[in-house]
Amino acid sequence: MFSRRTVSALRHYHPSRHFSSTTKTQADFTHAVIGAGAVGLAIARRLQQVEGAQVVLIEKHGMVGTETSSRNSEVIHAGIYYGHDTLKTKLCLQGKEMLYDLCAKNGIPYMNCGKWIVAQTDESMDALQSVHDFAKSIDVPIRFISREEAQRREPDVRAQAGALESPSTGIVDSHTYMQFLQGDFEEAGGTTALASPVTRIAGHTNEWKIWTAPPGTSEPTPSSPSPQTPGQNPPESGNEEDAFITASTLINSAGLHACATNNMVLPTSRHRTPYFAKGTYFSYSKSHPKPSTLIYPAPIPGHGGLGTHLTLDMGGRVRFGPDVEWVDSPNDLSPNPDRARLRTTIEDIKSYLPGLDADAVALDYCGIRPKLARGAGALNTGKGGGFIDFYIEKEEGLEGGGEMVNLLGIESPGLTSSLAIAEYVYGLLYR
Ligand SMILES: Cc1cc2nc3c(=O)[nH]c(=O)nc-3n(C[C@H](O)[C@H](O)[C@H](O)COP(=O)(O)OP(=O)(O)OC[C@H]3O[C@@H](n4cnc5c(N)ncnc54)[C@H](O)[C@@H]3O)c2cc1C
Repeated sequence: MFSRRTVSALRHYHPSRHFSSTTKTQADFTHAVIGAGAVGLAIARRLQQVEGAQVVLIEKHGMVGTETSSRNSEVIHAGIYYGHDTLKTKLCLQGKEMLYDLCAKNGIPYMNCGKWIVAQTDESMDALQSVHDFAKSIDVPIRFISREEAQRREPDVRAQAGALESPSTGIVDSHTYMQFLQGDFEEAGGTTALASPVTRIAGHTNEWKIWTAPPGTSEPTPSSPSPQTPGQNPPESGNEEDAFITASTLINSAGLHACATNNMVLPTSRHRTPYFAKGTYFSYSKSHPKPSTLIYPAPIPGHGGLGTHLTLDMGGRVRFGPDVEWVDSPNDLSPNPDRARLRTTIEDIKSYLPGLDADAVALDYCGIRPKLARGAGALNTGKGGGFIDFYIEKEEGLEGGGEMVNLLGIESPGLTSSLAIAEYVYGLLYR
């Protein structure tokens, strides 16, 4: 499945240490991207297109994209929830267009199936009106659907107070998308290093020294700083099992572990604490009711997600979710078997899909949102609610080391935005 540019573990790789680089060093690689999820893959692919670039994409698992990028709703978001002047809005709008285009040109399965946001009360109708007005203000297609049209098109869906249609929303096969990115990156000369957990990073003159351990080795915990004291260079050789490579530019795209990577590199005063909002999905084993579009409840300000919605996958299967449960660990991926929780979910779904057969709903899989504050909401109303934007910055004031671009809190709409994020990172480094 992997091309010849995939390395089974970075510690078995012996770079020839002669690449030209963005700065005047003799680093093994021009760029090291940590984390091969959809975002890291897109960034590595974009940077490999720079003339003279030799990019290494370092991933701790034996395959790309096995964490959050394969545990989400696979929705191509329209960009209507994140407010004015935010990276989430800008990169979602741009990323949506880029993703549709890339999928269409490269045979990546996708469907522009649209979505409805439905309101059952006057209060939630106000939320729909806000979403509508914001979408209009940024020229994203949106419209209210009349009761008659709603009844005719989706007779199983209840929208007591009203329904808003977002025609530019869609779905994508995220696995095929990531396989495409990996293949394209490697064909352009990039190197994917799998089974290579990064355990330590140290800055030297104009370059980074990046240590990886054997697969399965315990890493720094997400909230802890690195084993090394920031500002001090770690010993030249650490654990004898560890190996290192050097790179001029470091990109931290480690998803749920991005704060841990941040804390390996930046001084204590710039350490970050990660928070985790788990979302559980539910499968549905009946063929009815099955709407032909995605159905979302009206968004609730301050909620960590967009409400338990109905999505379809490319195989036409219905799934529900994700809910929101704040957890302490990025590895807490087992679905919560709590019966009361399941009952609440079923009630939520029945509010817009009254014909649901509750016996056909079962726990499925979980994904975890990387949050930068406890209780951070997904919706930007401009009136509080704890919205936090993507953090994508070229870090300044580093002692030693080359350049570093840091990506933190890349939650939804990160999949939709991935190609635009890659372009943005390229811009931070080269424009
Ligand atoms: C429940 C849920 C639903 C979502 N739904 C949608 C949606 O419908 N549409 C949408 O656009 N977005 C959605 N998202 C958001 C989207 O899934 C993420 O924004 C996106 O997948 C993030 O990609 P990433 O590459 O940043 O992170 P990840 O996919 O988490 O990749 C990070 C990678 O870094 C690796 N890594 C971490 N630490 C190290 C280390 N020390 N050494 C080496 N490798 C390391 C990990 O193994 C991992 O593979 C959803 C997210 C969740 C949780």
